[in-house]
Amino acid sequence: MSPVGPLTAEELAELTERIAARKVRLLEEIRRVLARSGNERYATLVGEAGDAGDASVAALLRDVAEAEVRRDVLEVRDIVAAQGRIASGRYGVCIDCGATIGYPRLAAYPTAKRCLSCQQAREKGGRYGPQPSL
Ligand SMILES: [Zn+2]
Repeated sequence: MSPVGPLTAEELAELTERIAARKVRLLEEIRRVLARSGNERYATLVGEAGDAGDASVAALLRDVAEAEVRRDVLEVRDIVAAQGRIASGRYGVCIDCGATIGYPRLAAYPTAKRCLSCQQAREKGGRYGPQPSL
């Protein structure tokens, strides 16, 4: 059994690199926004976290409440989670059903943690889920 699952070593290396580059860009943007908004302490911490680059980033960003960077922060958290799955050899495996996610989906959405059918089932569940009682 291959530790990288359904991906070839080349595919995994490419996605790993793309994820890392995206994280660097996001952290830089977050740092810039925080610095502009006078949040110097967090701006400095985020800058340092970019170098450290592990779960401590997620812990740090939990405290960042700036609405302007909220989406970036959420994406960084997804990236940190994806890097954790890469490190533990579970990247590319659906967290719900254990199916292989496959390179095409990961290429389009490198932080995907579910296979397409589980993701669709989840979104459908949200849309047609519990309705407010009358
Ligand atoms: Zn699945």
